Amino acid sequence: MTPVFQRPVEKAIPGEDRQPEPGIRMPRISVEGVSKIYRSKKWEFTALDRIDLTVEEGEFVSLLGPSGSGKSTLLRLIAGLEPPTEGRIRVDGRTVKGPGADRGMVFQRYTLFPWLTVEQNIAFGLRLRGESRAKRREVVEHYLRKIGLEAFRSAYPKALSGGMQQRVAIARALANRPSVLLMDEPFGALDPITKGQMQEMLVQLWEQEGTTVIFVTHDVEEAIFLSQRIVIMAANPGRIIAEVRVPFGRSRGYDLRDTEAFLHLKRQIVRRLEPVMAEK
Ligand code: ADP
Ligand code: MG
Repeated sequence: MTPVFQRPVEKAIPGEDRQPEPGIRMPRISVEGVSKIYRSKKWEFTALDRIDLTVEEGEFVSLLGPSGSGKSTLLRLIAGLEPPTEGRIRVDGRTVKGPGADRGMVFQRYTLFPWLTVEQNIAFGLRLRGESRAKRREVVEHYLRKIGLEAFRSAYPKALSGGMQQRVAIARALANRPSVLLMDEPFGALDPITKGQMQEMLVQLWEQEGTTVIFVTHDVEEAIFLSQRIVIMAANPGRIIAEVRVPFGRSRGYDLRDTEAFLHLKRQIVRRLEPVMAEK
């Protein structure tokens, strides 16, 4: 089997904000020389060191690395929740200056609005945008079906299991039709069986909806099972050390994990990660 690691990625095109031009492909996301340095009077800490990363439309990319390698920081910067110290991030050609409906987020902690029902949670963004009742109903039905929670449409989050809550959170994010779905260890708090089911559901959703996804995880199997490409990060300073293209097609079932190809890739990635885990 051929070696899998590759880097660096092509540098994103420098220049001012670009609007999509017909016939010209631009990356969905480009992270260009991005550093994030946290400072106080007494210390300085480089959470991200000169990150370059390009994600194409419809791609599923995982950020994989030990804790403290800046995965969440990078996701927050792409979300526009914090500015980079240096460099620039563009989504669909436009420089990120703050949060926006073009970037949907799903976090590890359940973040549904507890005072809204499942339906109302999913419709939240559509309502904010002033979509008609008919449109909201159509979109909510679509995603209720996708996540298999039609029977729970009128339930409040507290009545749902963790896995169900995360399904609603994913539906709520997708209902806004974001350019990109940013997910930070969304299944990290789930039991292994539920986690596996959620991963399969996410692969299906991604396949059907064509969403661009950036998925943060420290779980090697999860990264391989879900992604087309894995960006491996290390800590101190947070940086990209390698990239792996995952050679499996879109339709992936649970059994993929038992194949020799899967296990081979897993071993290679674990070996690549071991030295940087010890570095911490
Ligand atoms: P990961 O998600 O890979 O575990 P994070 O992005 O959460 O890593 O954190 C990367 C590093 O940056 C950690 O060492 C963390 O302590 C530090 N860090 C994150 N946010 C802040 C902050 N607001 N102030 C200071 N340090 C921070
Ligand atoms: Mg994190």
